[in-house]
Amino acid sequence: MAGILVIAEHRQGALRPASLEIIAAALPLKAKAGALTVAIVGSAPQSFVPELSVEGVDEIVTVAVASEVFQPDVQQSAVAALIGARKPSVVLIAHGVDAWSYAPGIAASAGYGFATDVFEIAYDGDDLVATRAGYKEKVRIELDFPGKATVLLTVRTNSFKPAAGSSSPTVTAFAAPSVEPRTSHTGWKEPAASGGIDIPAAEFIVSIGRGVGDETKVEQFLELADGLGAVLGCSRPIADNGWLPKARQVGQSGKLAANCKLYVALGISGSVQHLWGMKHVETIIAVNSDPEASIFSVARYGVVGDMFEIAEELQALQ
Ligand SMILES: Cc1cc2nc3c(=O)[nH]c(=O)nc-3n(C[C@H](O)[C@H](O)[C@H](O)COP(=O)(O)OP(=O)(O)OC[C@H]3O[C@@H](n4cnc5c(N)ncnc54)[C@H](O)[C@@H]3O)c2cc1C
Repeated sequence: MAGILVIAEHRQGALRPASLEIIAAALPLKAKAGALTVAIVGSAPQSFVPELSVEGVDEIVTVAVASEVFQPDVQQSAVAALIGARKPSVVLIAHGVDAWSYAPGIAASAGYGFATDVFEIAYDGDDLVATRAGYKEKVRIELDFPGKATVLLTVRTNSFKPAAGSSSPTVTAFAAPSVEPRTSHTGWKEPAASGGIDIPAAEFIVSIGRGVGDETKVEQFLELADGLGAVLGCSRPIADNGWLPKARQVGQSGKLAANCKLYVALGISGSVQHLWGMKHVETIIAVNSDPEASIFSVARYGVVGDMFEIAEELQALQ
């Protein structure tokens, strides 16, 4: 078949949010590539059908395997068999530890077109073009795949707003070949505490950058955000310095402000990596002392000024 195959993921009984992101990445390709099929491999794959039945999904393929946890050998064998049987034009898998362990093997052994960590996917005429970064995120690299009937891409997480809505896809079971895993699962790592901070869910974010100067000034912005009913976010240097927890970092290696409607950027220059997490927000207000700061290129309202003075004005409004 032509068509798109998305491989959804789950862990500890929960669908991984990246699954809905890559479904979203697939949607614009449907006009050219055809129907969208989502596959899920697991010991009880049918339990994920309701959550995967989002708008635009035409079919869900459940692949039942004996293993309750992710096993690279089992996954590779199941997904390779499914691709071999269905022959989709495009296969999308979330770029992450699971994919790293099995996606390259599938692509290499079958000779599929392959690219990792892509964050834009589109058709240029009949050619699929995948965009990824290079040279420490300094350049964009556009890749095409001449002569490849099937292209497998691992897609950067936090790059697409998760697919939503509902659909009534056909549900099909696929019998995967049985494989004995060569690895064994020893346990789960404790997740890093987020302290209840949820940047992707926040509708109003006040975010601070290196313009804050030093750690002692951070507290007043926590209070400001709290008083305004916003969640405090930050740029990477603030998290890297340990001034705020990583859970507050907005951007490519942090969180996507997926549901944000109002984003106030204070003392943030607007690097491409930060913009990644927030440039889609409908209303962005930027405060920066440098009139040339890149953040102004995405801001609806810009204030060339001192973030502390603006913070004081905002405090006074409360
Ligand atoms: C692989 C990779 C992933 C990355 N991921 C992320 C990410 O997820 N998120 C992220 O944010 N960054 C990320 N970065 C880092 C990114 O490249 C930038 O270094 C970072 O975003 C800069 O943060 P900043 O804007 O706070 O600091 P700066 O670039 O130093 O900007 C500080 C700004 O504050 C302004 N300023 C100074 N004083 C004041 C004042 N008193 N009032 C108002 N304005 C003032 C300055 O004019 C300046 O524009 C990543 C980098 C790499 C290589």
